[in-house]
Amino acid sequence: MEQKEQCSRDLESYLDLIQFLNEGTDDYFFVWNIPENRINFAGEIQQKCLLPQKENDGYTLQDFEDIIYARDREAMREQLSLIAEGQREICNIECRIVDKDGHTEWISCRGKSRLDEDGIPRWMMGRISWNALIRKSDALTGLFNGDKFMEDMQQCLEHNCAGHLLLLGIDNFKHINIKYGRTFGNHVLRKVTQILETHVEPSMNIYRLDGDRFAVALQGQGEDVVRELYEKVKEDLKDCCTISAGAFFCPGNSSEECGMIYQYAEAALDRAKEEGKNRLVFFSPDHYKKRLDTIRLLDEMRKDMKAGCENFYLQYQPLIDCRDFHVRGAEALLRYDSPINGKTGPTEFIPLLEQTKLICPVGEWVLETALKQCREWQKKIPDFHININISYAQLREDGISSRVLDLLNESGLPGEALTLEVTESMQLQDYQHFNKLFRRWKEYGINIAIDDFGTGYSSLSYLKSLEIDEIKIDRSFVTNIQNSSYNYRLLNNVIELAHSARIKVCCEGVETEEELLALESLKPDVLQGFFFARPCDREAFRENYVYKTHDISQK
Ligand code: C2E
Ligand code: CA
Ligand code: CA
Repeated sequence: MEQKEQCSRDLESYLDLIQFLNEGTDDYFFVWNIPENRINFAGEIQQKCLLPQKENDGYTLQDFEDIIYARDREAMREQLSLIAEGQREICNIECRIVDKDGHTEWISCRGKSRLDEDGIPRWMMGRISWNALIRKSDALTGLFNGDKFMEDMQQCLEHNCAGHLLLLGIDNFKHINIKYGRTFGNHVLRKVTQILETHVEPSMNIYRLDGDRFAVALQGQGEDVVRELYEKVKEDLKDCCTISAGAFFCPGNSSEECGMIYQYAEAALDRAKEEGKNRLVFFSPDHYKKRLDTIRLLDEMRKDMKAGCENFYLQYQPLIDCRDFHVRGAEALLRYDSPINGKTGPTEFIPLLEQTKLICPVGEWVLETALKQCREWQKKIPDFHININISYAQLREDGISSRVLDLLNESGLPGEALTLEVTESMQLQDYQHFNKLFRRWKEYGINIAIDDFGTGYSSLSYLKSLEIDEIKIDRSFVTNIQNSSYNYRLLNNVIELAHSARIKVCCEGVETEEELLALESLKPDVLQGFFFARPCDREAFRENYVYKTHDISQK
């Protein structure tokens, strides 16, 4: 009896205290009578949440649990029972509460228990804060946001937690928004949230980062768990959208900064997208290093381009007239030799220049340099010819038509001395546009060649639809031609077809005498390949083919 009176006296004074503390704050202080299982709040919490009519002796723990978002209940229950069992004195929970309108809001619930003389937990006092997490949550999905993600990652690192960080990105989310509207886009984001919440254990946090990106911190989990989770999410989403993912394993003793851990997972996600989307990719250090190297190379090339294409130079490979084997000209081939990275192969750096459109200014430099070079060599060989490669990005550039003509004009060369090589793999389907461009150049005598002929999808339609002067048959058809009757017949037909349309034929990549002998009977117009000469620097070309002799038929 005495104990009961003491208890209600305690409660009264606690209630006075929390009532007092509650003034002037938006938080809700509470006192939890642990053995009796009742919670009293200061302030009108029932105005915010769907709690039953308030009674004098407060709410039951069950009432409180009912207003907590289902996914977060388990974690809350676990902490509170540890406190009730006396295994823990401090409570620190972040969970979502469902308000009267059905919206979820993150709250932070902190408190400390008090033990009686026998060491049995008797009370817990604390507060629920609504505002602490407001800037750390995402209004649309109700998940934590990127700020909270970084904060939690930092904590994980400080506590040496090991595990996987999984980043997910909805594929083509921009297109979804454009095609179906933002409301539908939002629906997709909520759907992803709901599916993630179904499959990710409640003790692991899910975050929505920028736009269509989500992160899951899978503490203590191995690769198989990550894979399994991803497959489930992908499967459940299949009627709605596809999703890519990148995962990074962070060892417990990592000395990395959390920004780097995010970057690693992001690199894996980027790769998943690059490799065709709708897949999970684990971080690979080798791949990451390559990416870094690529970024560095691009930075360097950009800097060098601005400095007047410093460290770029041209090599020249002879073009051989098939009738008498004299050098009729050269193909200009771009090279890059940086003081930091050394020489980089054209198949590596040219696609980068093309992707970033840096090929436009660099390509202009190639045109200018090669045209001038040709002009100089024409002083010795008046009909010397120059072939210059031109990229799709350049052809798409505004004003390219006049720019080429201006450069030709400045060089003093007749248009007939120039062939522009356009790669077949380019998407030249917009025939009208390209024919217009080519026609203008052809008025000045410039020749147009289709490069790597036979490697694209629409070789024959190019022949029919594009107004071209020459095709350069790809090396893959020429290699070992003497042993492939199929390739031989194919080449025979292509050459006949081209000639009947008055299109010249160059065979690229002639490497052996046997190939040459087989090709001769097919009567292409021009030959090019290592058998005659490899590409060489300007000085060597000048010495070997311009000033010495331009007949290499003796080879
Ligand atoms: P491409 O236009 O097909 O150039 C011919 C390539 O074949 C050159 O490679 C040349 O070295 C190589 N080649 C020539 N004969 C033989 C042979 O007998 N055997 C073998 N195995 N290869 C031979 P390179 O210099 O590595 O150039 C690669 C590609 O880079 C070029 O292929 C072209 O698509 C591109 N490229 C080069 N310079 C430029 C440029 O100034 N602008 C643009 N847009 N692309 C360029
Ligand atoms: Ca070429
Ligand atoms: Ca080629």
